Amino acid sequence: MRHFDVLIVGGGSAGSVLASRLSENADCQVALLETGEWPTDPDIAKPDMWPLIQGRDYDWQYATLPQAGTANRIHPWPRGRIVGGSSCLHAMAHVRGHQDDFAAWAQVTGDENWSWQGLLPWFIKSEHFSNGASAVHGVDGPLDVWLPDAEVHPLVKSYMQAGLNQGAPWLGDHNTGLLCGVAPNALTIRDGKRVSAADAWLKPARERRNLTLLLRTQVETLLLKGSNIAGVACTIAGEAHTLSADTVILAAGALASPALLMRSGVGCASELEAHGIVCQLPLDLVGKNLHDHLLAAGNVWLARQPIGKTRLQHSESLMYLHSADITRRDAQPDIVLGCVCAPSVAPTFPQPEPGSTYTLLCGVTRPTSRGQITLTGAHSSDKLRIDPAYLQTEQDRRTFVKALKIARQIGNDAALGAWREKEWLPGESVQDDAALADFIARAVITHHHPVGTCQMGKTAQDSVVDGRLRIHGLDNGYVVDASVIPSITCGPVHAAILAIAESFAGRFRQN
Ligand SMILES: Cc1cc2nc3c(=O)[nH]c(=O)nc-3n(C[C@H](O)[C@H](O)[C@H](O)COP(=O)(O)OP(=O)(O)OC[C@H]3O[C@@H](n4cnc5c(N)ncnc54)[C@H](O)[C@@H]3O)c2cc1C
Repeated sequence: MRHFDVLIVGGGSAGSVLASRLSENADCQVALLETGEWPTDPDIAKPDMWPLIQGRDYDWQYATLPQAGTANRIHPWPRGRIVGGSSCLHAMAHVRGHQDDFAAWAQVTGDENWSWQGLLPWFIKSEHFSNGASAVHGVDGPLDVWLPDAEVHPLVKSYMQAGLNQGAPWLGDHNTGLLCGVAPNALTIRDGKRVSAADAWLKPARERRNLTLLLRTQVETLLLKGSNIAGVACTIAGEAHTLSADTVILAAGALASPALLMRSGVGCASELEAHGIVCQLPLDLVGKNLHDHLLAAGNVWLARQPIGKTRLQHSESLMYLHSADITRRDAQPDIVLGCVCAPSVAPTFPQPEPGSTYTLLCGVTRPTSRGQITLTGAHSSDKLRIDPAYLQTEQDRRTFVKALKIARQIGNDAALGAWREKEWLPGESVQDDAALADFIARAVITHHHPVGTCQMGKTAQDSVVDGRLRIHGLDNGYVVDASVIPSITCGPVHAAILAIAESFAGRFRQN
């Protein structure tokens, strides 16, 4: 049996960072196990292609259960099955979050490493920022973070001006710890091409003699021995193998990491036993606390003039606001708007011709609905039961209505006069809160940010991993990916996941 110092399961966003950073220590034999292969599709690198590459053979193509809160719709959930993982599919918006998002993480773990101040050095270390170094930005890191200016679509510039006219403050940069106001999206793009986590971290490291990349490798179960993970059972190019290690790190993402734990006998005993899995380590919260951002697609406008193509990635400025007072600058935002310069309309509605409409997306930044992932069988080929419990709380539904009203208010501003013919969706006849809530249920789509299924915390009663991301009850097993996020950041989650992996690797190496 081959033995490694560290086995990393999953070569996605977090896994790429971990493999690169942990193999900087030439004495540490690291293996990265990834089901997919290196990207070969040239469309992955093209920023405007991101909505069109979903469903190709490097997408796991998950789907939720029908959602009672969204008119019983099933929501497709793309996830990368490729080196670089979901960073090869994502929309490239780089938004760290509001500083108070991380205060909540520090509070549930009692570990200040997860506060904004604790994570800031890792955000800085990870990036090569286009506008230079500062107290909050770095230029020596592997990931290109580019703040566009002239390249922003003229329609999106008008929408940004509309936000300012309506009283939203100017922010300029989503990555300073504050989030409310108007700013173009910072993008992980270099010379017009997507930069995935694998491009940034893994490619420069892949020739290291102490880093073994095992691709087309599907980890089936963890091999538990007492309070240790002795290794993993996997298939490599379809052949069964076992590998052993001193340390095993799960970085298979918010769906596959909890699924792997459950298939290996770590989870809620009664749920596992229902599938004939012997519970080896009871840990009730594995797979629970699933949550995601939704966007209503949305407040759609018929255009007065043809809308030209994007030079970036269609949705070029997320606008975070506090719905009770959109002039507030320091607040933790509760809603988000976005302006898409290509048709973006939920599948429930007729699809408009390209160039004929634009969409003001809107959403809730801190959803309170919580769902779960469960197994349907003991084998990795058995589908996951994914229930994000979308829009199950009154608070989420109410805040969504506020977000739609503010999207409309900004959509009607004079700055968009040259673009606006008239509102198409929800349509002028839809005005009262009940009708707006009904429209939202039919219009929401995922923002692609599932998190929380192996949440960090203090004890096995309130979490799956501790503040060091070690699985409760196991001495040498960790989870380091989107699953450990206990409560979602206000913005897209990728920047935070990279910082989690950087922080973990930095601290792991010190031990
Ligand atoms: C369409 C889309 C758009 C998005 N847009 C944005 C955006 O603009 N900004 C943003 O911040 N975030 C965005 N996201 C979210 C972001 O990309 C993800 O949250 C992030 O990449 C998740 O990182 P991860 O490391 O947790 O998992 P992943 O990157 O998904 O990595 C998991 C890896 O594990 C591998 N794996 C799984 N199971 C096994 C197994 N059993 N054995 C071996 N390997 C396995 C997978 O193949 C995958 O490579 C988007 C996501 C999608 C899908």
